[in-house]
Amino acid sequence: MKVIVLGAGIVGITSAYQLAKAGHEVTVVDRQPGPALETSFANAGEVSFGYCSPWAGPGIPMKALKWLFMEHAPLILRPKIDAAMISWMLKMLSNCTSKRYAINKSRMLRLADYSRISLAAMREETGIAYDERMQGTLQLFRTEAQLDASAKDVKALASDGIPYEVLDPDGCIRVEPALKHVREKIVGGLLTPKDETGDCFKFSSALAAKAAELRVRFNYGSIIRGLDVDGGRVRGVITAHGQLKADAVVVALGSFSPLLVRPHSIHLPVYPVKGYSLTIPIIDEARAPVSTVMDETFKIAITRLGDRIRVGGMAEISGYTNDLGEPRRLTLQHSVTDLFPGGDVSKASFWSGLRPMTPDGTPVIGATKVAGLYLNTGHGTLGWTMSSGSARVIADLVSGRKPDIDAADLAIARYA
Ligand SMILES: Cc1cc2nc3c(=O)[nH]c(=O)nc-3n(C[C@H](O)[C@H](O)[C@H](O)COP(=O)(O)OP(=O)(O)OC[C@H]3O[C@@H](n4cnc5c(N)ncnc54)[C@H](O)[C@@H]3O)c2cc1C
Repeated sequence: MKVIVLGAGIVGITSAYQLAKAGHEVTVVDRQPGPALETSFANAGEVSFGYCSPWAGPGIPMKALKWLFMEHAPLILRPKIDAAMISWMLKMLSNCTSKRYAINKSRMLRLADYSRISLAAMREETGIAYDERMQGTLQLFRTEAQLDASAKDVKALASDGIPYEVLDPDGCIRVEPALKHVREKIVGGLLTPKDETGDCFKFSSALAAKAAELRVRFNYGSIIRGLDVDGGRVRGVITAHGQLKADAVVVALGSFSPLLVRPHSIHLPVYPVKGYSLTIPIIDEARAPVSTVMDETFKIAITRLGDRIRVGGMAEISGYTNDLGEPRRLTLQHSVTDLFPGGDVSKASFWSGLRPMTPDGTPVIGATKVAGLYLNTGHGTLGWTMSSGSARVIADLVSGRKPDIDAADLAIARYA
Protein backbone atom coordinates (compact mmCIF):
# COMPACT_ATOMS: atom_id res chain seq x y z
CA MET A 1 0.00 0.00 0.00
CA LYS A 2 1.01 3.62 -0.50
CA VAL A 3 1.01 5.22 2.95
CA ILE A 4 1.64 8.88 3.74
CA VAL A 5 2.75 9.76 7.27
CA LEU A 6 2.04 13.36 8.17
CA GLY A 7 4.65 14.71 10.59
CA ALA A 8 8.32 13.88 11.12
CA GLY A 9 8.41 14.13 14.91
CA ILE A 10 9.28 11.05 16.97
CA VAL A 11 5.76 9.66 16.42
CA GLY A 12 5.84 10.13 12.62
CA ILE A 13 9.39 8.77 12.22
CA THR A 14 8.80 5.63 14.31
CA SER A 15 5.48 5.06 12.46
CA ALA A 16 7.17 5.42 9.06
CA TYR A 17 9.90 2.97 10.07
CA GLN A 18 7.41 0.31 11.25
CA LEU A 19 5.15 0.82 8.21
CA ALA A 20 8.13 0.39 5.87
CA LYS A 21 9.12 -2.76 7.76
CA ALA A 22 5.57 -4.04 7.24
CA GLY A 23 6.16 -3.74 3.50
CA HIS A 24 4.39 -0.47 2.65
CA GLU A 25 5.57 2.27 0.31
CA VAL A 26 5.92 5.16 2.74
CA THR A 27 6.28 8.93 2.30
CA VAL A 28 6.73 11.30 5.26
CA VAL A 29 5.68 14.95 4.89
CA ASP A 30 6.77 17.75 7.22
CA ARG A 31 7.10 21.53 7.03
CA GLN A 32 10.50 21.48 8.76
CA PRO A 33 13.81 20.90 6.94
CA GLY A 34 14.49 17.65 8.87
CA PRO A 35 13.17 15.23 11.48
CA ALA A 36 12.18 16.09 15.08
CA LEU A 37 12.58 19.86 14.88
CA GLU A 38 9.43 20.75 16.81
CA THR A 39 8.24 19.14 20.09
CA SER A 40 10.52 16.10 19.71
CA PHE A 41 13.63 18.31 19.58
CA ALA A 42 14.66 19.02 23.19
CA ASN A 43 12.24 17.23 25.52
CA ALA A 44 13.33 16.07 28.96
CA GLY A 45 14.76 12.80 27.61
CA GLU A 46 12.92 10.46 30.00
CA VAL A 47 11.83 7.17 28.52
CA SER A 48 9.74 6.53 31.55
CA PHE A 49 7.83 3.29 31.19
CA GLY A 50 7.17 3.16 34.94
CA TYR A 51 6.85 6.85 35.75
CA CYS A 52 3.90 7.11 33.44
CA SER A 53 0.78 8.85 34.74
CA PRO A 54 -2.00 11.02 33.39
CA TRP A 55 -1.87 14.60 34.60
CA ALA A 56 -5.60 14.53 35.33
CA GLY A 57 -6.06 12.90 38.71
CA PRO A 58 -7.94 13.21 42.01
CA GLY A 59 -6.91 16.34 43.89
CA ILE A 60 -5.33 17.94 40.82
CA PRO A 61 -7.82 20.86 40.49
CA MET A 62 -6.94 22.03 44.05
CA LYS A 63 -3.23 21.42 43.51
CA ALA A 64 -3.41 23.30 40.20
CA LEU A 65 -4.87 26.35 41.96
CA LYS A 66 -1.97 26.26 44.44
CA TRP A 67 0.63 25.81 41.68
CA LEU A 68 -0.66 28.87 39.82
CA PHE A 69 0.43 31.12 42.70
CA MET A 70 3.73 29.39 43.55
CA GLU A 71 7.13 30.93 42.98
CA HIS A 72 8.67 28.86 40.14
CA ALA A 73 5.17 27.64 39.27
CA PRO A 74 4.89 24.30 37.43
CA LEU A 75 1.58 25.44 35.89
CA ILE A 76 0.93 28.66 33.98
CA LEU A 77 -2.55 29.43 32.72
CA ARG A 78 -3.24 32.18 30.20
CA PRO A 79 -6.98 31.77 29.57
CA LYS A 80 -8.30 32.82 26.17
CA ILE A 81 -11.68 32.92 24.55
CA ASP A 82 -10.91 29.77 22.64
CA ALA A 83 -13.59 27.08 22.37
CA ALA A 84 -10.97 24.34 21.91
CA MET A 85 -9.12 25.39 25.09
CA ILE A 86 -12.28 25.59 27.18
CA SER A 87 -13.65 22.28 25.93
CA TRP A 88 -10.27 20.57 26.52
CA MET A 89 -10.00 21.93 30.06
CA LEU A 90 -13.53 20.77 30.94
CA LYS A 91 -12.74 17.29 29.59
CA MET A 92 -9.51 17.29 31.60
CA LEU A 93 -11.44 18.17 34.78
CA SER A 94 -13.91 15.35 34.15
CA ASN A 95 -10.93 12.94 34.19
CA CYS A 96 -9.83 14.06 37.67
CA THR A 97 -11.70 11.28 39.52
CA SER A 98 -10.12 8.21 41.16
CA LYS A 99 -12.01 5.92 38.80
CA ARG A 100 -10.92 7.74 35.61
CA TYR A 101 -7.35 8.07 36.91
CA ALA A 102 -7.10 4.31 37.46
CA ILE A 103 -8.45 3.52 33.96
CA ASN A 104 -6.24 6.12 32.25
CA LYS A 105 -3.11 5.16 34.15
CA SER A 106 -3.52 1.47 33.47
CA ARG A 107 -4.05 2.17 29.73
CA MET A 108 -0.92 4.35 29.62
CA LEU A 109 1.13 1.72 31.45
CA ARG A 110 -0.02 -0.94 28.96
CA LEU A 111 1.18 1.15 26.01
CA ALA A 112 4.35 2.27 27.79
CA ASP A 113 5.31 -1.30 28.66
CA TYR A 114 4.79 -2.36 25.05
CA SER A 115 6.92 0.63 24.01
CA ARG A 116 9.71 -0.60 26.27
CA ILE A 117 9.78 -3.90 24.39
CA SER A 118 9.44 -2.18 20.99
CA LEU A 119 12.21 0.34 21.67
CA ALA A 120 14.56 -2.43 22.80
CA ALA A 121 13.80 -4.36 19.59
CA MET A 122 14.44 -1.28 17.42
CA ARG A 123 17.69 -0.57 19.26
CA GLU A 124 18.76 -4.17 18.70
CA GLU A 125 17.94 -4.24 14.98
CA THR A 126 19.28 -0.77 14.09
CA GLY A 127 22.22 -0.34 16.49
CA ILE A 128 21.24 3.33 16.91
CA ALA A 129 23.07 5.30 19.64
CA TYR A 130 21.31 8.28 21.21
CA ASP A 131 23.04 8.99 24.55
CA GLU A 132 20.88 6.23 25.98
CA ARG A 133 21.14 4.98 29.57
CA MET A 134 19.12 2.32 31.41
CA GLN A 135 19.35 3.45 35.02
CA GLY A 136 15.76 4.29 35.94
CA THR A 137 13.77 7.35 36.99
CA LEU A 138 13.99 8.62 40.56
CA GLN A 139 10.94 10.59 41.65
CA LEU A 140 12.32 12.84 44.38
CA PHE A 141 10.18 13.95 47.32
CA ARG A 142 11.12 16.99 49.37
CA THR A 143 8.09 16.79 51.73
CA GLU A 144 6.30 14.05 53.69
CA ALA A 145 3.07 15.03 51.92
CA GLN A 146 4.63 14.21 48.53
CA LEU A 147 5.87 10.87 49.85
CA ASP A 148 2.41 10.03 51.23
CA ALA A 149 0.71 11.05 47.98
CA SER A 150 2.91 8.62 46.02
CA ALA A 151 1.02 5.71 47.68
CA LYS A 152 -1.61 5.69 44.90
CA ASP A 153 1.13 5.43 42.23
CA VAL A 154 2.81 2.62 44.16
CA LYS A 155 -0.53 0.79 44.24
CA ALA A 156 -0.97 1.18 40.47
CA LEU A 157 2.63 0.07 39.78
CA ALA A 158 2.15 -3.00 41.99
CA SER A 159 -1.14 -3.99 40.39
CA ASP A 160 0.34 -3.58 36.88
CA GLY A 161 3.47 -5.57 37.79
CA ILE A 162 5.85 -2.64 37.09
CA PRO A 163 9.04 -2.90 39.23
CA TYR A 164 9.58 -0.07 41.73
CA GLU A 165 11.44 0.72 44.96
CA VAL A 166 10.40 3.16 47.68
CA LEU A 167 13.64 4.77 48.95
CA ASP A 168 14.76 6.71 52.01
CA PRO A 169 17.28 9.56 51.53
CA ASP A 170 20.26 7.16 51.67
CA GLY A 171 18.59 4.99 49.05
CA CYS A 172 18.17 8.06 46.81
CA ILE A 173 21.88 8.86 47.21
CA ARG A 174 22.80 5.27 46.33
CA VAL A 175 20.92 5.71 43.04
CA GLU A 176 22.03 9.30 42.37
CA PRO A 177 25.34 9.85 44.21
CA ALA A 178 25.47 13.63 43.51
CA LEU A 179 22.45 14.04 45.81
CA LYS A 180 24.75 13.52 48.81
CA HIS A 181 25.53 17.26 48.60
CA VAL A 182 21.85 18.11 49.24
CA ARG A 183 20.86 15.27 51.58
CA GLU A 184 18.98 17.64 53.92
CA LYS A 185 16.54 18.58 51.12
CA ILE A 186 15.37 14.98 50.53
CA VAL A 187 12.58 13.12 52.34
CA GLY A 188 12.51 10.07 50.08
CA GLY A 189 12.04 8.80 46.56
CA LEU A 190 10.28 6.34 44.28
CA LEU A 191 12.54 4.53 41.82
CA THR A 192 11.23 2.92 38.66
CA PRO A 193 14.37 0.99 37.68
CA LYS A 194 13.22 -0.15 34.23
CA ASP A 195 13.00 3.45 32.99
CA GLU A 196 15.52 4.71 30.47
CA THR A 197 16.84 8.04 29.22
CA GLY A 198 17.99 9.23 25.83
CA ASP A 199 18.08 12.07 23.33
CA CYS A 200 14.85 11.98 21.33
CA PHE A 201 16.25 14.21 18.57
CA LYS A 202 19.33 12.03 18.08
CA PHE A 203 17.17 8.89 18.03
CA SER A 204 14.66 10.37 15.55
CA SER A 205 17.42 11.58 13.21
CA ALA A 206 19.19 8.21 13.24
CA LEU A 207 15.93 6.27 12.79
CA ALA A 208 14.93 8.51 9.87
CA ALA A 209 18.21 7.52 8.19
CA LYS A 210 17.41 3.82 8.81
CA ALA A 211 13.91 4.38 7.41
CA ALA A 212 15.43 5.96 4.28
CA GLU A 213 17.43 2.71 3.84
CA LEU A 214 14.02 0.94 3.81
CA ARG A 215 13.03 3.31 0.94
CA VAL A 216 10.92 5.70 3.01
CA ARG A 217 10.74 9.04 1.15
CA PHE A 218 10.90 12.33 3.05
CA ASN A 219 9.19 15.46 1.74
CA TYR A 220 10.65 18.08 4.06
CA GLY A 221 9.88 21.80 3.84
CA SER A 222 6.36 20.95 2.74
CA ILE A 223 3.39 22.57 4.48
CA ILE A 224 0.33 20.32 4.71
CA ARG A 225 -2.80 22.27 3.83
CA GLY A 226 -5.50 19.60 3.95
CA LEU A 227 -6.71 16.09 3.27
CA ASP A 228 -8.16 14.90 0.00
CA VAL A 229 -11.30 13.03 1.07
CA ASP A 230 -13.86 11.75 -1.38
CA GLY A 231 -16.85 9.47 -0.79
CA GLY A 232 -15.90 8.91 2.86
CA ARG A 233 -12.38 7.68 1.92
CA VAL A 234 -9.06 9.48 2.05
CA ARG A 235 -7.41 9.76 -1.37
CA GLY A 236 -4.32 11.73 -0.43
CA VAL A 237 -2.93 14.95 0.97
CA ILE A 238 -2.86 18.54 -0.25
CA THR A 239 0.47 20.28 0.39
CA ALA A 240 1.86 23.69 -0.53
CA HIS A 241 3.83 21.84 -3.24
CA GLY A 242 0.86 20.00 -4.71
CA GLN A 243 -1.22 16.90 -4.17
CA LEU A 244 0.05 13.47 -3.07
CA LYS A 245 -1.99 10.29 -3.60
CA ALA A 246 -2.20 7.52 -1.02
CA ASP A 247 -4.18 4.44 -0.01
CA ALA A 248 -3.78 5.32 3.68
CA VAL A 249 -2.76 8.44 5.62
CA VAL A 250 -1.43 8.49 9.20
CA VAL A 251 -1.79 11.83 10.99
CA ALA A 252 1.15 12.37 13.38
CA LEU A 253 1.21 16.17 13.50
CA GLY A 254 1.44 16.47 17.28
CA SER A 255 -0.47 19.50 18.59
CA PHE A 256 -1.49 20.48 15.06
CA SER A 257 -3.33 17.22 14.32
CA PRO A 258 -6.84 18.45 15.34
CA LEU A 259 -6.61 21.39 12.92
CA LEU A 260 -6.17 19.06 9.95
CA VAL A 261 -9.00 16.65 10.73
CA ARG A 262 -11.59 19.12 12.02
CA PRO A 263 -12.92 20.01 8.51
CA HIS A 264 -13.84 16.31 8.19
CA SER A 265 -15.95 16.42 11.37
CA ILE A 266 -13.33 14.55 13.40
CA HIS A 267 -13.15 16.26 16.78
CA LEU A 268 -9.82 15.29 18.24
CA PRO A 269 -9.45 16.55 21.82
CA VAL A 270 -5.75 17.40 21.58
CA TYR A 271 -4.56 20.78 22.83
CA PRO A 272 -1.04 22.28 23.03
CA VAL A 273 0.44 22.42 26.53
CA LYS A 274 3.69 24.26 26.34
CA GLY A 275 6.81 23.14 28.19
CA TYR A 276 10.36 24.42 28.43
CA SER A 277 13.82 22.90 28.62
CA LEU A 278 17.41 23.90 29.25
CA THR A 279 20.37 21.89 27.95
CA ILE A 280 23.48 22.47 30.01
CA PRO A 281 27.06 21.27 29.39
CA ILE A 282 28.47 19.33 32.38
CA ILE A 283 31.52 20.82 34.07
CA ASP A 284 31.55 18.66 37.26
CA GLU A 285 30.53 15.00 36.81
CA ALA A 286 30.38 14.46 40.59
CA ARG A 287 27.56 17.00 40.82
CA ALA A 288 25.57 15.80 37.82
CA PRO A 289 22.75 13.21 37.69
CA VAL A 290 23.48 9.74 36.29
CA SER A 291 19.92 9.20 35.03
CA THR A 292 16.57 11.04 35.40
CA VAL A 293 15.51 12.73 38.62
CA MET A 294 11.95 14.01 38.72
CA ASP A 295 11.79 16.88 41.20
CA GLU A 296 8.25 16.48 42.50
CA THR A 297 8.16 19.99 44.02
CA PHE A 298 8.61 21.84 40.73
CA LYS A 299 7.45 18.95 38.49
CA ILE A 300 10.74 19.24 36.63
CA ALA A 301 12.74 16.37 35.13
CA ILE A 302 16.52 16.53 35.28
CA THR A 303 18.17 14.06 32.93
CA ARG A 304 21.70 13.04 32.03
CA LEU A 305 22.24 12.99 28.26
CA GLY A 306 25.89 12.14 27.54
CA ASP A 307 27.98 15.15 28.58
CA ARG A 308 24.89 17.37 29.05
CA ILE A 309 22.13 17.82 31.59
CA ARG A 310 18.64 18.34 30.16
CA VAL A 311 16.13 20.00 32.48
CA GLY A 312 12.54 20.03 31.29
CA GLY A 313 9.13 20.80 32.62
CA MET A 314 6.31 23.28 33.27
CA ALA A 315 2.86 23.24 31.78
CA GLU A 316 1.70 26.46 30.18
CA ILE A 317 -1.77 26.58 28.73
CA SER A 318 -1.59 29.53 26.38
CA GLY A 319 -2.50 28.21 22.93
CA TYR A 320 -0.21 27.84 19.92
CA THR A 321 2.76 30.00 20.94
CA ASN A 322 6.44 29.12 21.26
CA ASP A 323 7.77 32.32 22.82
CA LEU A 324 10.44 31.97 25.52
CA GLY A 325 10.00 33.92 28.77
CA GLU A 326 12.89 34.67 31.13
CA PRO A 327 10.89 33.65 34.28
CA ARG A 328 10.53 30.12 32.86
CA ARG A 329 14.25 29.89 32.26
CA LEU A 330 14.88 30.97 35.85
CA THR A 331 12.54 28.25 37.16
CA LEU A 332 14.44 25.52 35.30
CA GLN A 333 17.73 27.00 36.36
CA HIS A 334 16.60 27.14 39.99
CA SER A 335 15.50 23.49 40.08
CA VAL A 336 18.69 22.11 38.51
CA THR A 337 21.20 24.24 40.42
CA ASP A 338 19.38 23.49 43.69
CA LEU A 339 19.98 19.74 43.28
CA PHE A 340 22.77 19.31 40.69
CA PRO A 341 25.01 22.36 40.39
CA GLY A 342 27.39 20.44 38.08
CA GLY A 343 26.54 22.25 34.83
CA ASP A 344 27.54 25.56 33.25
CA VAL A 345 24.19 27.37 33.07
CA SER A 346 25.76 30.37 31.32
CA LYS A 347 26.22 28.08 28.27
CA ALA A 348 22.73 26.52 28.43
CA SER A 349 20.37 26.49 25.46
CA PHE A 350 16.76 27.35 26.21
CA TRP A 351 13.85 25.84 24.26
CA SER A 352 10.08 25.46 24.31
CA GLY A 353 7.76 22.86 22.76
CA LEU A 354 4.03 22.18 22.53
CA ARG A 355 2.98 18.88 24.12
CA PRO A 356 0.04 17.42 22.17
CA MET A 357 -2.14 16.67 25.20
CA THR A 358 -5.31 14.63 25.40
CA PRO A 359 -7.54 15.21 28.44
CA ASP A 360 -7.01 11.60 29.65
CA GLY A 361 -3.26 11.46 29.05
CA THR A 362 -3.44 8.55 26.57
CA PRO A 363 -2.61 9.13 22.90
CA VAL A 364 -5.17 8.57 20.16
CA ILE A 365 -4.12 5.67 17.96
CA GLY A 366 -6.28 3.99 15.35
CA ALA A 367 -8.75 4.33 12.52
CA THR A 368 -11.23 7.18 12.05
CA LYS A 369 -14.65 7.36 10.41
CA VAL A 370 -12.88 8.36 7.15
CA ALA A 371 -11.75 5.12 5.51
CA GLY A 372 -7.97 4.91 5.18
CA LEU A 373 -7.38 7.82 7.59
CA TYR A 374 -5.56 6.90 10.82
CA LEU A 375 -4.44 8.88 13.85
CA ASN A 376 -1.25 8.43 15.86
CA THR A 377 -1.13 11.55 17.96
CA GLY A 378 -1.86 13.17 21.33
CA HIS A 379 1.15 11.69 23.15
CA GLY A 380 1.30 14.69 25.50
CA THR A 381 3.90 14.49 28.24
CA LEU A 382 5.20 11.07 27.19
CA GLY A 383 5.56 11.00 23.42
CA TRP A 384 9.19 9.89 23.47
CA THR A 385 8.28 7.13 25.93
CA MET A 386 5.20 5.86 24.11
CA SER A 387 6.20 6.38 20.46
CA SER A 388 7.85 2.99 19.86
CA GLY A 389 4.81 0.96 20.92
CA SER A 390 2.37 3.37 19.24
CA ALA A 391 4.25 2.95 15.96
CA ARG A 392 3.90 -0.82 16.06
CA VAL A 393 0.21 -0.57 16.91
CA ILE A 394 -0.50 1.82 14.01
CA ALA A 395 1.59 -0.23 11.55
CA ASP A 396 -0.42 -3.33 12.53
CA LEU A 397 -3.77 -1.54 12.21
CA VAL A 398 -2.91 -0.04 8.80
CA SER A 399 -1.74 -3.48 7.64
CA GLY A 400 -4.97 -5.14 8.84
CA ARG A 401 -3.13 -7.14 11.52
CA LYS A 402 -4.16 -7.56 15.15
CA PRO A 403 -1.81 -5.50 17.37
CA ASP A 404 0.11 -7.34 20.12
CA ILE A 405 -1.70 -5.30 22.81
CA ASP A 406 -5.37 -4.44 23.19
CA ALA A 407 -5.73 -1.25 21.13
CA ALA A 408 -9.52 -0.80 21.07
CA ASP A 409 -9.53 1.84 23.82
CA LEU A 410 -6.69 3.80 22.21
CA ALA A 411 -8.81 4.88 19.22
CA ILE A 412 -10.75 8.15 18.97
CA ALA A 413 -13.95 6.17 19.45
CA ARG A 414 -13.30 6.27 23.23
CA TYR A 415 -14.45 9.91 23.22
CA ALA A 416 -17.73 9.14 21.47
C1 LIG B 1 9.37 20.43 27.91
C2 LIG B 1 8.96 19.07 27.42
C3 LIG B 1 9.49 17.95 28.03
C4 LIG B 1 9.11 16.68 27.63
N1 LIG B 1 9.71 15.60 28.19
C5 LIG B 1 9.40 14.36 27.77
C6 LIG B 1 10.05 13.24 28.33
O1 LIG B 1 10.95 13.38 29.15
N2 LIG B 1 9.67 12.00 27.92
C7 LIG B 1 8.70 11.82 27.01
O2 LIG B 1 8.36 10.68 26.72
N3 LIG B 1 8.07 12.87 26.42
C8 LIG B 1 8.40 14.13 26.79
N4 LIG B 1 7.79 15.21 26.23
C9 LIG B 1 6.72 14.98 25.26
C10 LIG B 1 7.24 14.65 23.87
O3 LIG B 1 8.30 15.51 23.54
C11 LIG B 1 6.09 14.78 22.86
O4 LIG B 1 5.00 14.01 23.28
C12 LIG B 1 6.53 14.30 21.48
O5 LIG B 1 7.67 14.98 21.05
C13 LIG B 1 5.40 14.47 20.48
O6 LIG B 1 5.87 13.99 19.26
P1 LIG B 1 5.04 14.14 17.93
O7 LIG B 1 5.81 13.47 16.87
O8 LIG B 1 3.64 13.75 18.18
O9 LIG B 1 4.98 15.74 17.68
P2 LIG B 1 6.07 16.70 17.06
O10 LIG B 1 7.44 16.32 17.47
O11 LIG B 1 5.63 18.09 17.35
O12 LIG B 1 5.96 16.41 15.51
C14 LIG B 1 4.89 16.90 14.74
C15 LIG B 1 5.46 17.29 13.39
O13 LIG B 1 4.37 17.74 12.57
C16 LIG B 1 4.84 18.79 11.76
N5 LIG B 1 3.70 19.60 11.36
C17 LIG B 1 2.69 20.09 12.14
N6 LIG B 1 1.80 20.74 11.37
C18 LIG B 1 2.24 20.68 10.10
C19 LIG B 1 1.73 21.14 8.85
N7 LIG B 1 0.59 21.82 8.73
N8 LIG B 1 2.46 20.90 7.72
C20 LIG B 1 3.62 20.18 7.80
N9 LIG B 1 4.13 19.71 8.94
C21 LIG B 1 3.46 19.95 10.07
C22 LIG B 1 5.84 19.53 12.65
O14 LIG B 1 6.77 20.23 11.86
C23 LIG B 1 6.46 18.43 13.47
O15 LIG B 1 7.69 18.01 12.94
C24 LIG B 1 8.15 16.52 26.60
C25 LIG B 1 7.63 17.65 25.96
C26 LIG B 1 8.02 18.91 26.36
C27 LIG B 1 7.47 20.11 25.65
